[in-house]
Amino acid sequence: MAPKHHPTPLSGGDRKALQKELGRARAMTTILAAQSAEARTKGEALIRQADRLLSESWNERMWADGGLMDPSPTIDQAVNGGYPWLEIECSRCMTKRDVDLAALRHPPTTFVHDLASRLRCGKCAKANRRPPATLLQLAQRPRQAAPET
Ligand SMILES: [Zn+2]
Repeated sequence: MAPKHHPTPLSGGDRKALQKELGRARAMTTILAAQSAEARTKGEALIRQADRLLSESWNERMWADGGLMDPSPTIDQAVNGGYPWLEIECSRCMTKRDVDLAALRHPPTTFVHDLASRLRCGKCAKANRRPPATLLQLAQRPRQAAPET
């Protein structure tokens, strides 16, 4: 895009005033953009903190009361809050597994508690059973490097 053209005023005083106004506007552009970036960074940090606290709150409730999974953070809230792993246990064969939330194909707005009926146990699937998963807690890292196959 071509730079904006400001018609040159006839009087010298007006020309000076125009230059001054242009300089001020250009300086404000930079200052306001920097303030916007700073506010956004602060906002994102606060959201991250809120997501972390939400994940930790859910973990505490799961530990204290179990079963009561709803409400829970969404997948993207857990990931953003630094809890990208979900520890689950098969309700039938009790096999434990760590689920990488970021790798799931579910929309990131899916609530973690809604995953209970969607995460299937591979062992039981082979036996043609589809028991729901028991959700244990959100974790910052997996318990073991790779889940059993
Ligand atoms: Zn199982």
